[in-house]
Amino acid sequence: MTPTFIPDAQLRRAGLSSTTQRRAVLTLLVGRLRPLTAQEVHAELNSSGQHIGLTTVYRALHSLAGVGLLHTFELGGQRAYRHCGAAPHQHLICTRCDAVSECPPGIVATWLNDLHQHTGFVPHPDRLDLRGTCATCAET
Ligand SMILES: [Zn+2]
Ligand SMILES: [Zn+2]
Repeated sequence: MTPTFIPDAQLRRAGLSSTTQRRAVLTLLVGRLRPLTAQEVHAELNSSGQHIGLTTVYRALHSLAGVGLLHTFELGGQRAYRHCGAAPHQHLICTRCDAVSECPPGIVATWLNDLHQHTGFVPHPDRLDLRGTCATCAET
């Protein structure tokens, strides 16, 4: 069940003031599987009639990522941004379509525990990206 998305509330909870630009950028990214670059966010906002400068888009993305509302990814050598859920998760990144899905940390907890038992390495699983092929691409 997805709670109704209220950009104002998310921004305030994260300690950011709710500006028109931040709301526009955040709203655009909500529900997207594939991370978007600043240029893509800029182009989509402008084609939907929201004329926000590229520099402003960059600043908004930077502050949203800074408080953890967006997670950053490398897409073709460029920084891309995705709105992720507030619950802890790992990223499953499709190398064919660039879709990112969220994997609950419970699923990898056993593996991380085994890893520690075997190597003594203490992982900090706050950010773990796993590359592969998503279910949709694997079918084709
Ligand atoms: Zn994430
Ligand atoms: Zn895919």
